Amino acid sequence: MPSNLPLAGAATPPVSPSQVRYRAHKFGGSSLADAVRIRRVAALLASGTDTVPLIVVASAMQGVTDALTSLAGLAASGRPWHDDWNDLRRQHLAAAAVLDPQHLHGVADWLQHAFADLHTELGAFADADAARLAAVQGLGEVWSSRLLQVALGGDAGGWARLDARDVLQVQSGELGVAVDWSRSRGNLAAWRADRPAGNVVVTGFIAADGDGRATTLGRNGSDYSGSIFAVLFNAIELTIWTDVDGVLSADPRRVPDAVCLESMSYAEACEMAYFGATVLHPQTMAPAIQAGLPIRIRNTSDPGAPGTLISAASGAAASPVKGLSLVEQLALLELSGAGLMGVPGTAERMFAALREAGVSVTMISQGSSEHSICCVVRADQAERARVAVQAAFAKAIAAGQVHGVAVTPDICVLAAVGDGMVGGVGVAARLFDGLARARVNIRAIAQGASERNISVAVAADDAVRGLRAAHSAFWLSRQTLSVGLIGPGNVGRALLAQFAAMLPRYAGHGGLDLRLRAVADSRRMTLAARTISPETAVAGLDDGEPLDLSHFVSHVQAEHLPHALIIDCSGNDAIAAHYPQWLAAGIHVVTPSKHAGSGPLARYRAIRAATRGGGQFRYEATVGAGLPVIQTLRNQLDTGDALIGIEGILSGTLAWLFNRFDGSQPFSHLLREAHALGYTEPDPRDDLSGIDVARKLVILAREAGRELSLDDVAIDNLVPPALRELDREAFLARADELDAPLRARLQAAQAEGRMLRHLACLDDAGARVGLVAPEPGHASLHGRLTDNLVQFRTRRYADNPLVVQGPGAGPEVTAAGVFGDVLMIAQSLGARL
Ligand code: ADP
Ligand code: ASP
Ligand code: MG
Repeated sequence: MPSNLPLAGAATPPVSPSQVRYRAHKFGGSSLADAVRIRRVAALLASGTDTVPLIVVASAMQGVTDALTSLAGLAASGRPWHDDWNDLRRQHLAAAAVLDPQHLHGVADWLQHAFADLHTELGAFADADAARLAAVQGLGEVWSSRLLQVALGGDAGGWARLDARDVLQVQSGELGVAVDWSRSRGNLAAWRADRPAGNVVVTGFIAADGDGRATTLGRNGSDYSGSIFAVLFNAIELTIWTDVDGVLSADPRRVPDAVCLESMSYAEACEMAYFGATVLHPQTMAPAIQAGLPIRIRNTSDPGAPGTLISAASGAAASPVKGLSLVEQLALLELSGAGLMGVPGTAERMFAALREAGVSVTMISQGSSEHSICCVVRADQAERARVAVQAAFAKAIAAGQVHGVAVTPDICVLAAVGDGMVGGVGVAARLFDGLARARVNIRAIAQGASERNISVAVAADDAVRGLRAAHSAFWLSRQTLSVGLIGPGNVGRALLAQFAAMLPRYAGHGGLDLRLRAVADSRRMTLAARTISPETAVAGLDDGEPLDLSHFVSHVQAEHLPHALIIDCSGNDAIAAHYPQWLAAGIHVVTPSKHAGSGPLARYRAIRAATRGGGQFRYEATVGAGLPVIQTLRNQLDTGDALIGIEGILSGTLAWLFNRFDGSQPFSHLLREAHALGYTEPDPRDDLSGIDVARKLVILAREAGRELSLDDVAIDNLVPPALRELDREAFLARADELDAPLRARLQAAQAEGRMLRHLACLDDAGARVGLVAPEPGHASLHGRLTDNLVQFRTRRYADNPLVVQGPGAGPEVTAAGVFGDVLMIAQSLGARL
């Protein structure tokens, strides 16, 4: 390498001979993917009100560099390439037809010639060398820049086109491609002699080498072209336009929760890019640092968004870590042995051997005992590295001083980057805590002395899980709940409406971060990486995918989110059967459905046992809907009180019927009225049978530690045996057969000056549900029409029972009971509401 050729990172600021200031833009392949997008880019540039001239660096149309690489590979290996060549040609001609429909710019003919030349070149490609390969690889930018120039109005419209191969001179060096600034500047001055002012479209990615042959700046290199040309043209700033809002806290394809960074320092951007953030080519920052050129990353699809500013200042940040990135396809190389301890020069020997072998080292770690040194190298260089190090220590290995060299394949390095980590306490702890929660084993750790980067080597299989967990450790509230809702029926819909109204109020308080990420009915489900809006959750199910419950559950229990919660509003016993398994896996479960609480005792026990796995099971809405019935009982028991008995009205429907039933009209008339008002179940026998009330009583009894089952409850079924087996219509037609027996019971009560009430009772004598005639003054006689009423008689409340009373049915209050349970869980996890 000629000594007058500084490496990119050490470049001296080239001073432009011109006093004209430019504004520089670079558009990535994603922004130039087709004619429509190229037009959009032209419109975006035309809409600027700036009076300074522009230089616009263009990447190839998206996918074209890959296509050219593969084309060259096919031609070099003698495989058929004509179809692929033709596809590429058609793609470009199609764009030309849209951008230059009247052939004013002759771009179609120009492309025909260019592709004919490529055809000739590929035809003679059998012994192609790397330089010819690079020349072909870089043609995409030649074509795309021409298309963009035409879209902008061409020469006539004041847009010149600069082929970087005529100006930019580079040389490949150890640290990447180095720019020969003085020759490039001279070349540019010559080029500008004919074009002293005006806008310029520049080919990204390509350049000429010392021998004047076409070369490239490496994959993704047009970002680097952007900053090089911005500096050569003495630009005020460089905007890199891409398909994301800016530099995000992590690769959004891997971490759905990644957030856009407002600003970052050059150093931070360099670290992120070197450690795998493909949004920027790692060398991009070097010319900018030297020239103090600010770089802004922005989204072509959302030009109004502010993007990320990269400059000398780091800027304020919510987290000490700015970004996380991942380098893949690595291997861990370890040299170990007691004979290494305290021996000077071991590391030097190891790294000299690697250098000799041309192996680049991504990360180094050595314990202070010096018993082993390990480093991370590229997977495709691992074997070469092993052989080299083994050879360097051959004598020591033979003498038994060194065990040998071990290679662990399939390694990734996860790097946390941020200037704010300097001097910050606890940053590493947070990272390791996040990884530990996701059960990711760390193979090696390195922290640079700059403290701007902590890197950990992990197994490739753990990498994405680790990345997400680390991300949530730094960016998410520890209370973030990933929520799945099953069964958006009446209650589910009411709950969604309450979520829609209330969740925004909790956002941003550092308290509750509840994310509805999955919704399912009995047939379909919708899963979202981030959140489903409660407003559109139900309608969205129409376009959902077929329900796959296990996929639903694993989606809700996302590794990158700290907590998972399933809300089961399905009323389906088969769903309740999954609770033990979910709870054991640490998923919290909330339900208004009585299946689990009053179903088979064995399953109930399994659920109770499973909650030891960390998942909480809450079901306040199963008794008295939104009334705090279960919570009240729990509070008494948890504070050392003992239950003596429970008595109450547990059905709003039966409360309404017997509040109205005073003999003035037959019971069947009241029943039909209640049915028409929607107060009863679709089949009113479900209310009259007393089973539903009995289920609630079982739930309360179990809550109090009594292992009761439905069979243990004495149920006074109000439906005469003759009506029990009929279908619903037939039953409704013969409902007046209820009248005589109930009239008789009412008259008997009235004879003693009493009324009838449908009560549930639990005491030492057992559990009973049915009609009784309470003594005058009994609380059940004073309830409002559909009120539920629960009286707890406990040791503390022995003479005067503790009473919970109020409307105990309806989707709104039931949903509120469910919501309350969700908030209880969130609070128990640390959310402040
Ligand atoms: P362009 O065609 O504009 O050059 P690239 O595909 O080269 O676009 O780079 C943008 C892509 O980089 C994004 O779409 C995103 O998937 C990926 N990416 C990886 N890491 C990050 C990150 N930390 N922030 C933003 N984008 C990232
Ligand atoms: N077109 C080149 C590539 O795909 C350069 C770039 O887009 O930055 O690597
Ligand atoms: Mg790119």
